[in-house]
Amino acid sequence: MIVNMSEAATEQEIQHVIERVREAGFDPHVTRGAERTIVAVIGSQGRRHELEALKAAAGVEDVVPIATPFKLVSRQTHPQRTVVEVGCVRIGAGEFVVIAGPCSVESLDQMLETARAVKRAGAVMLRGGAYKPRTSPYDFQGLGLEALEILDAARRETGLPVITEVMSTEDVDIICQHADMLQVGARNMQNFALLRRLAKLKMPVMLKRGPSATVKEWLLAAEYLLAGGNAQVVLCERGIKTFESEMMRNTLDLAAVALARELSHLPVIADPSHGTGRRSLIAPSSRAALAIGADGIIVEVHPCPERALSDGAQSLDLAGFHSLMRVIADPMPRIARHAC
Ligand code: PEP
Ligand code: MN
Repeated sequence: MIVNMSEAATEQEIQHVIERVREAGFDPHVTRGAERTIVAVIGSQGRRHELEALKAAAGVEDVVPIATPFKLVSRQTHPQRTVVEVGCVRIGAGEFVVIAGPCSVESLDQMLETARAVKRAGAVMLRGGAYKPRTSPYDFQGLGLEALEILDAARRETGLPVITEVMSTEDVDIICQHADMLQVGARNMQNFALLRRLAKLKMPVMLKRGPSATVKEWLLAAEYLLAGGNAQVVLCERGIKTFESEMMRNTLDLAAVALARELSHLPVIADPSHGTGRRSLIAPSSRAALAIGADGIIVEVHPCPERALSDGAQSLDLAGFHSLMRVIADPMPRIARHAC
């Protein structure tokens, strides 16, 4: 349920409602907007009829059910958009944020060369996998701690905040000592133990959509983070499995970007690299993501993609990334007018 306070509600009236919600056995989550305050009532163990009675309390405009199963993620409980801050980068604040870097951290030279180049071209955050979720156990699994130290060096030199993937609860502490933002990869979207652990952190989290997850499942996974206390969450659409598997690795579901932004207040970015699996599709897909309202993109870039230890086929080289940044900044074409 949501208790919508009236615009004129006093602080005392808001506090009274919060106390009554607790007394009824629920957990109140308060959102203070510019105009009004909303008290979202979370939990299933309380006495619902006591909430309905709150309609009669001073300062309450109405008490309505939350229409979606993802309650704290829903825009109904938090009408203003969330801005996620990663160092000095603000995701969801209206500017299109470009995150770039290699799929995997492979060496200090590779990472520094990439970091310098993507920064020069306009990226504001650096990516690089230290612990890699690979389909085959025989493929490169990431350099682990050594990669985290390389990411530190790249941050020190460029000042770019760093995002890297966390696959397991065991690695959370060590990764937190080196990262500015944690990535929950597509394969771990429903790793509930991991989500519960990350919910307790102050660190921002990027939650990728699972390849077979519905938008509802994705938003419910995000709900784990918010319900556990971490509201610094960015959603990332990275392509889903469809019948197309031959020509594209995944199908980048851009409508889901718009839908997730419509249903939730969290920033949503797109990953055209994993979303398509093809270098040639990164620029058009990035432009489409921008047009559909994404808050940014995360893109794989490697100084020499043919030598990449993972995801070379979908990685841009440094010049390719530079031209991607130019393509994104191109103005959209004008709409034709009937002139004959
Ligand atoms: C990655 O970002 O390199 C990665 C493995 O992503 P995903 O979880 O989307 O496959
Ligand atoms: Mn990758």
